[in-house]
Amino acid sequence: MTARRLFLLDAARLAAAATAATPARVLAAAPANRAGYPFSLGVASGSPLPDSVILWTRILPDPLDPASAPRLAVPLRWEVAADEGFRTIVARGGAVATPELAHSVRVNVVGLQPARWYWYRFMLGDAVSPAGRTRTAPAAGSMPDVLKLAVASCQHWEFGAYAAHRHIAAASPDLVAFLGDYIYEWGPYQLRHPQRAVRQDESFTLDDYRRRYAQYKSDPQLQAAHLAAPWIVTWDDHEVANDYAGLRDERLAATFAQRRAAAYQAFYEHMPLRLPPPRSFASVRMFQRYDWGRLARLHVLDDRQYRAAQACPRPNAGGSASVTPRACPALLDARRSMLGREQEAWLEAGLRSSPARWNVLAQQTLMAPSTQVPAATPDGGRFWTDGWDGYPAARRRLLDTLVETRAANPLVLGGDVHTFYAAELRRDFGRPVSRANPLVATEFVGTSVTSSSRPQQRTDDYVAMNPHIRYGRSDRRGWMLLEVRPQEVRTWFLGLDDVRREDSGQRVLAGFSVRDGRAGVERTAG
Ligand code: FE
Ligand code: CA
Repeated sequence: MTARRLFLLDAARLAAAATAATPARVLAAAPANRAGYPFSLGVASGSPLPDSVILWTRILPDPLDPASAPRLAVPLRWEVAADEGFRTIVARGGAVATPELAHSVRVNVVGLQPARWYWYRFMLGDAVSPAGRTRTAPAAGSMPDVLKLAVASCQHWEFGAYAAHRHIAAASPDLVAFLGDYIYEWGPYQLRHPQRAVRQDESFTLDDYRRRYAQYKSDPQLQAAHLAAPWIVTWDDHEVANDYAGLRDERLAATFAQRRAAAYQAFYEHMPLRLPPPRSFASVRMFQRYDWGRLARLHVLDDRQYRAAQACPRPNAGGSASVTPRACPALLDARRSMLGREQEAWLEAGLRSSPARWNVLAQQTLMAPSTQVPAATPDGGRFWTDGWDGYPAARRRLLDTLVETRAANPLVLGGDVHTFYAAELRRDFGRPVSRANPLVATEFVGTSVTSSSRPQQRTDDYVAMNPHIRYGRSDRRGWMLLEVRPQEVRTWFLGLDDVRREDSGQRVLAGFSVRDGRAGVERTAG
């Protein structure tokens, strides 16, 4: 049986098992932009605990017109039901959407039952939002049969349609992890075949970023993926500015701290984050953990806010470059951190205390080394400084921590590079795998929802030069689906047939299995 057939059967079985709205019904629930309808940006849920989820919405009748928002604060009502028809309401309440947070609201619903699907909606006057479906995490100490996890990143508006999100909704995942580049801050992009235009120039101010999120969130397929399951989210660079590091951007702008705070506020306003409104958006603690019973612990990382500046940038600039260790000794400086010391310590504690069978690091970018020239040259390879290759000492510390904490089955998930990768991680990539240098983690990196990438031939060259990378595919956009079970994690790389089409089909490009107690990639499909 072909991999595709297997997958379809599997999807059909899971869809039948789910008590979910069918994808068609989910899509139908996404509103057309009816005049005056306040919920044109949809609803969302996320950050699930065993007894609690966060609900989100933002009041904006016309996604492309900020002036369509109410001028004052408006009171909303919300309700959570045990059934799709809202016959059994289990929680209800009020919330106030204020102009200070762009009429966005986050409701922390508590007192829910673990491991259960719920339906929720907001009401404003006579208007009723689309009904979203959400789910609580399993009880602490329980061992669920499966966590069905969809993983996505990088959805540059102008590079295509969000068909990947329709497929995510159709797959009925328990949870969606979005790993960064939810928006791109850039102005209109010079494309030969622009699919969709952004409505404004590059984002710098709070109003700019808010407009950008509103345009992105107007997309019905993106709304459908939010309606289908709770999300956990982190950010990467483009939620703020390309290649930024801490408080430094590529332009070395003196006002970057203000820009970053504006961007952080807009992100906060548009995501179902489990975070009370910060007093200031100068810094926002984004790293967080979520337990799925004893099956999985998701360590959600922030590798942007606290990182050391990229080593050896171009003259009079910040941001990334491609460098050799010989020409750029600063690359190897052990003081340079990707996560910052506080987050490193927090991650270590979370790994050490983890009760989970699988420790999932949900983070932004490729962790495996990826030299762009043969490593066996006097220069020692050539590396892109914006990813983990720009922070090799920090990467080594992290891999050491995975070993020393004895966290079970570390699984690294990433995005950012607009390429599907499956890789095997060990502490010392300069030495072969051995008893003293075993595989310590398995890594899967999703491609982009839309954002473009390099030609496949170059990716093939990278895979050939980096044997710990077992698979690389950059010519397809799409997403990843994982089924995490006690004995095995199965991963599928799902590629769109044509990112330019809203109705694009998808196919399994490759499938992999990781067994409990055995890091490493086993190809099962594609
Ligand atoms: Fe990206
Ligand atoms: Ca990125």
